[in-house]
Amino acid sequence: MTASPSAKTGKPKLAFRPLPVPHVDVHGFWGDRADAVATRTADILYDRCVEAGMLEQIDPDRPSPGVVIPFHSPSPDEADRQGAEFTGSTVTTQMFWDSDLGKTIETAAYSLYRRKNPELEAKIDAVIDMYGKLQQEDGYLSSWYQRIQPGKRWTNLRDCHELYCAGHLIEGAVAYYQATGKRKLLDIMCRYADHIASVLGPEPGKKKGYCGHEEIELALVKLARVTGEQKYMELAKYFIDQRGQQPHYFDEEARARGADPKAYHFKTYEYSQSHIPVRDQDKVVGHAVRAMYLYSGMADIATEYGDDSLRVALDRLWDDLTTKNLYITGGLGPSAHNEGFTSDYDLPNESAYAETCAAVGLVFWASRMLGMGPNARYADMMERALYNGSISGLSLDGSLFFYENPLESRGRHVRWKWHRCPCCPPNIGRMVASIGSYFYSLADDALAVHLYGDSTARFDIAGTAVSLTQASRYPWDGAVEITLKPQAPVEFTLHLRIPAWSSSAALQVNGEAVDLGEMTSDGYAAIRRTWKKGDSVRLDLEMPIERLYANPEVRQDAGRVALSRGPLIYCVEASDNDSRLHRLTLPRTAEIEAHEAPGLLGGVVTLSATARADAGDGWQDGLYRSEPPASVETRMTAIPYFAWDNREPGEMLVWLRDG
Ligand SMILES: [Zn+2]
Repeated sequence: MTASPSAKTGKPKLAFRPLPVPHVDVHGFWGDRADAVATRTADILYDRCVEAGMLEQIDPDRPSPGVVIPFHSPSPDEADRQGAEFTGSTVTTQMFWDSDLGKTIETAAYSLYRRKNPELEAKIDAVIDMYGKLQQEDGYLSSWYQRIQPGKRWTNLRDCHELYCAGHLIEGAVAYYQATGKRKLLDIMCRYADHIASVLGPEPGKKKGYCGHEEIELALVKLARVTGEQKYMELAKYFIDQRGQQPHYFDEEARARGADPKAYHFKTYEYSQSHIPVRDQDKVVGHAVRAMYLYSGMADIATEYGDDSLRVALDRLWDDLTTKNLYITGGLGPSAHNEGFTSDYDLPNESAYAETCAAVGLVFWASRMLGMGPNARYADMMERALYNGSISGLSLDGSLFFYENPLESRGRHVRWKWHRCPCCPPNIGRMVASIGSYFYSLADDALAVHLYGDSTARFDIAGTAVSLTQASRYPWDGAVEITLKPQAPVEFTLHLRIPAWSSSAALQVNGEAVDLGEMTSDGYAAIRRTWKKGDSVRLDLEMPIERLYANPEVRQDAGRVALSRGPLIYCVEASDNDSRLHRLTLPRTAEIEAHEAPGLLGGVVTLSATARADAGDGWQDGLYRSEPPASVETRMTAIPYFAWDNREPGEMLVWLRDG
């Protein structure tokens, strides 16, 4: 089933839209990841939501759990956060559980394209029935405010995730409708969105509110696109436009419920990017996931309305993130305190928070920037976050998760089965299960290929059905063979990303070499021609092993080097190395070799070199001395960062001492 035509905004534009999930079959690297989600993660997410008691909260046929846990944003300072597993006894309700169910429904929906799963589908249908029963006459729907804190709806948008939950249920509804053709949840969420629009908005008499945790904005854009209803686009635009305006809604809302606006746990509205209007923002601040979701929604609205004022602000924010505040893994938000940003160049490795959801959010944002046209500035970073800091959050078998994604570990940071704040598992699940839609985007007479890998895409362009097949061992090898099969000859532009990490690239069309320099702009080669059945394009991306260094302002990386090959960032892990990792030095003269390791971690390419290690001999008697430790030769082996902690627990290090 395909989406309905987009809502009309009345403005001409060249917008690129992602291909729908079912229109792209992925194999190879992403096929393995998507299979793990379809065969394991999707069921696990549902089961753990049930074990956590979520159905007790949403099912009107059961007694309300009625236990109110005073809300504070999931505090990383809680002693049980790291490595915590849900016990079933400490948490009975959460105000954001509708969101986790929404993301679980979304993951299940995308997974159904890959693998029929009637049992899971029946369970999701039952959850949707519960929401149908729960929904009030006026359309309102929140398990928290109906079952746990009745009578308090629309009184604390700042803290209580009310619209955030609606957003995730909307995304789940859109995905489930597209996957199954079942409209029930979509209709439920349309009624709720209509209710929201009757309460909040720019018109006189309506509250001028917006959510403290962005998400509803990008969700309403999806709802508008799938239903063709412009009113949902307008509501999304209102939430973007109103954010941070004066008088400040969160101040007024606090006073209305008898609270002091200054008595705010996070002290500053930077936490929710509502400190100033969004078009005036030029620094990435506050909670990282909130920021990524906001910028994603802004990018959607910029695309839909051709709004350059938003685009200018987004480019400033993109610069600020990628030149001063982003881990080399594509992770972001170093601090556990605010689950977000601190100060420029503050990128600690061992204590890195770098929430899985934040890297997933960066993928969302980057992919939406590509809606305004192919540009490797965004796509390269999308790829970085995809292959490294986001999928590190999911074990290779799809059953275990990371919340934080540090770049250094002493061996105690291990994956867990579940979490009392289970936002990350369904977020990485839905991203991986929908990976095909990040590969390509389509405009009226152009197709952009953003990601490479074994896959087949189907799309209609200029009224002609086209199938495009990529044959490639990417990311292990940079050779990509593309074959096009239009039903009839059709003219369009094929945009191919030339990644910045590739030291040289060569392009052939039907076996003839083409000068890339002449046809490349913004990091994409543009091939315009009338494509015929059997036309082929071959792209050879050189994939050198690179030593990467950080800006000297990043104190934690001074004197250190990281390794990459193609889109992958590497790390050393205890399992593959004899020495304690902090004792290793990689000499600048060391020759680094790449080796295929088909039996390791599902099949990876390792990097290895002769390194030096500080010896422990002669240090038994003390802590300090005037002679440096002796140095011994050792063999060092690095694996892709995303694959770490899939064997026995042990140390891990991305930034090695550089000799
Ligand atoms: Zn999360």
